[in-house]
Amino acid sequence: MGLNPNKRKRSKKKYYKKHSEEIKKYTENYRQKRLKEWKTYFETNYGSKTNCQICNKLIGFFTGDSTTSVAWDHKNGKSELIKGSPVGWLQHHYPTPENIAIWESCKFGILCHQCNRRLMTFNRIHWLKKAIKYAESQ
Ligand SMILES: [Zn+2]
Repeated sequence: MGLNPNKRKRSKKKYYKKHSEEIKKYTENYRQKRLKEWKTYFETNYGSKTNCQICNKLIGFFTGDSTTSVAWDHKNGKSELIKGSPVGWLQHHYPTPENIAIWESCKFGILCHQCNRRLMTFNRIHWLKKAIKYAESQ
């Protein structure tokens, strides 16, 4: 017979509270380790730097600085298998052949952060057409 569920929950909470710094450090190390492996994968496939697909700015992978780093764009209105943050997903998955297949199936756009911020994810084409019409009107 183990602990009852409430006691187990309290015990888990206590354990987490006591070791939270170590757990955070451990989790962060694994996230960084996974990103480092993905960085190697991207640099092997795209080169150490690539260009923003809109403004052509030269950007790198996980540079630690959003002004020089790639932003992955949900180009297909979040119909992609990875619906949430692409980098969040990368932090939780190693680049195994299965995960690479999932990643590649998403066909994320490669943008600089500035272009990515300016683009909306949903109804993009419709909105852009209206924005162009507005910009061209006198
Ligand atoms: Zn750009």
